[in-house]
Amino acid sequence: MTIKPLFRLNDEAGRLAALRRYEILDSAPETEFSDIVALVKSIFNTKYAAINLIDSERQWMKAAAGLEPLECGRGDAFCDHTIRGTSALAVEDATADSRFSDNPFVTGEASIRSYLGVPLTSPDGYNIGAICVFDTGLRKFSDADKTVLENFAKVVMSQFELRLIARQDSLTGSLTRRAFVERMDRLSGREDPVSLLMIDLDRFKLVNDTFGHPVGDIVLKSVATTIQSSLRKSDALGRLGGEEFAVLLPGADATGALAFADRLRNEIATRKLDEIAGANVTLSIGIADHRAGESRDLWLARADQALYAAKTTGRNRCVVAE
Ligand code: GH3
Ligand code: MG
Ligand code: MG
Repeated sequence: MTIKPLFRLNDEAGRLAALRRYEILDSAPETEFSDIVALVKSIFNTKYAAINLIDSERQWMKAAAGLEPLECGRGDAFCDHTIRGTSALAVEDATADSRFSDNPFVTGEASIRSYLGVPLTSPDGYNIGAICVFDTGLRKFSDADKTVLENFAKVVMSQFELRLIARQDSLTGSLTRRAFVERMDRLSGREDPVSLLMIDLDRFKLVNDTFGHPVGDIVLKSVATTIQSSLRKSDALGRLGGEEFAVLLPGADATGALAFADRLRNEIATRKLDEIAGANVTLSIGIADHRAGESRDLWLARADQALYAAKTTGRNRCVVAE
């Protein structure tokens, strides 16, 4: 039995939010997607195949076969027509189609004549882009062709979904270590200040030993939720290990990060938790702002040393790295 997906075609804000959730726009080329378009191009025996994402004003290519990935205005994108529908869009002769006869890819050097595209639909029904084949020759596409490309669209979407799942820690919903360090690399390449907080729960083994591991898990979730709710949209929370979290604060120097960390430390320390008989947990926090040219490992190590200093000087404390 195939379940007919739900489509949300007239909610552009929701569509863009769905697209942003995958964090795939402007990402580096990846072989999985290049392999898919190469395969699609050879199956259809067309000059070109591509995976296109439709941003608010532009079309961005995640992968291309037969051409170098390129970006174009949304108004010139064939796939922008495809995402307005719920099934394949086939163009046999673009010069004879009023939607495309004036299109610069048709009238210009590229001389595109035929196109087949299928929307890439998120599980919640948003068309974030399309997978397509196109050619300079006229071409009639059969129902079987459409079915083949529809199946490839599903393969592409499951790759996007898997990447999304791999970025999230299943217990707390924060970023996994891998996703967090990727974010560190992206932020440390910029001019703006950015600070890193390394957070470790104090004497957490005691919580497990006294109340059991499942209660420990609830406490971890609750701490993650509290941290997350104190962050701005551009900040990031990661779970680096069992009861170790880390926060990235773009725009914050060490002084600003210390003020934030200490508010957070205080908020957690003063909250009584029903799950542990009205007791509280405390955090030790090490803070390091990124130094120009510093490697990710060194940055992490400095924050770790500061965290260690917070532990050895009494816990429930914040310490800024040297
Ligand atoms: P310290 O103040 O020195 O950090 O003491 P601690 O007891 O927190 O540190 P330690 O590293 O000795 O122990 C960490 C404990 O965290 C051990 C482990 O049982 C617990 N822990 C790690 N991951 C999880 C998890 O996913 N769930 C639960 N419930 N406990 C976890
Ligand atoms: Mg601990
Ligand atoms: Mg620890």
